Amino acid sequence: MKKLTLQEKKHTADALLKRINALHKPGEVVRLMEVCGTHTVSIFREGLRQLLPEGIELVSGPGCPVCVTDQIYMDKALAYAERDDIIIATFGDMLKVPGSYSNLSEAQTKGAHIHVIYTPLEVLELSKRHPDKKIVFLAIGFETTIAVIGATVKAVHAAGIKNVFFLVSHKLVPPALRALLDRQEGRIDGFILPGHVSVIIGEEPYRFLPEEYHIPSCIAGFDGVEILSAIVNILEQRSSGKFMVGNTYHSVVMEQGNPVAQAMMREVYDVCDDTWRGIGIISHSGLALKGEYAAYDAELAIPTVLEKPSLDPKGCQCGRVLQGLIKPSECPLFGKSCTTVHPVGACMVSVEGSCAAWYKYGFSS
Ligand code: SF4
Repeated sequence: MKKLTLQEKKHTADALLKRINALHKPGEVVRLMEVCGTHTVSIFREGLRQLLPEGIELVSGPGCPVCVTDQIYMDKALAYAERDDIIIATFGDMLKVPGSYSNLSEAQTKGAHIHVIYTPLEVLELSKRHPDKKIVFLAIGFETTIAVIGATVKAVHAAGIKNVFFLVSHKLVPPALRALLDRQEGRIDGFILPGHVSVIIGEEPYRFLPEEYHIPSCIAGFDGVEILSAIVNILEQRSSGKFMVGNTYHSVVMEQGNPVAQAMMREVYDVCDDTWRGIGIISHSGLALKGEYAAYDAELAIPTVLEKPSLDPKGCQCGRVLQGLIKPSECPLFGKSCTTVHPVGACMVSVEGSCAAWYKYGFSS
């Protein structure tokens, strides 16, 4: 797709905002959930909230992978980190995610073997450099990351490596959306669907939104114009009463997604229930290594017993923030005891966390 000049972008954004104003009925409140943490950050960075007419509310959803990773998972990772025979391999944004009693950054200061990696395939090299250690990779993330980590599991298996294991807590987006709608706690009038996840899964897994729940949705790219286009698409669906899975990110997201990545994921993983931070168990929302790949499941290969109970950070409202039930600023700890420098909950840790975005961009309402 041709890249727009700044001037062209401004003209396009103006035209889209005009259309949004024309479609929006004054006095009506329309709550649209941006599911993806990258969208949340783009919305703030591009000042979209201030540009939309009053009554169109954007609420953040459960689409930040670090934020939805459950407390007990972090406690298991920390239990592994305490062992001298284990190296934890992790993406850097997991270091400050609070466990019940500590975090990986503190554990590292105390001498735990924690290695920050930039791509999962680095575990192959790490395993060769440390044949006397077990490498436990913290395998979190949504469908986009799952495809890359699944390919890494296969590469480890193909190379006959015996000292790499995966502590898996992958999350699937469509079951989480279904769970939000089933719980019916907060009204959602439409979903701005994640662009990167949709590159892998395509449009089909979202069809239940219009067909079973009669709710509009649209897959969106990540700059301001692309997000505004998705909002127009959703408002047009509302206006016509014909609901579908819109896609304004055609340049990247195919209707059928990426069949090769999907087949690989089916080969490596089984779908299972999983626990989401502050939300609880969501049916069919996680993955477990299966068949010959189950040998690389850290929990099966290196069982751990947690000596103390897992506890959510006292007063943290991440679960309600992740479901769009409250704004981050409605958490009593926001900006007081919980800041990006001293985060209490996971939503303040990740750059994609909605509490971190609200705090960084100075929003309080
Ligand atoms: Fe949790 Fe901090 Fe967000 Fe409150 S402001 S919900 S304590 S992360």
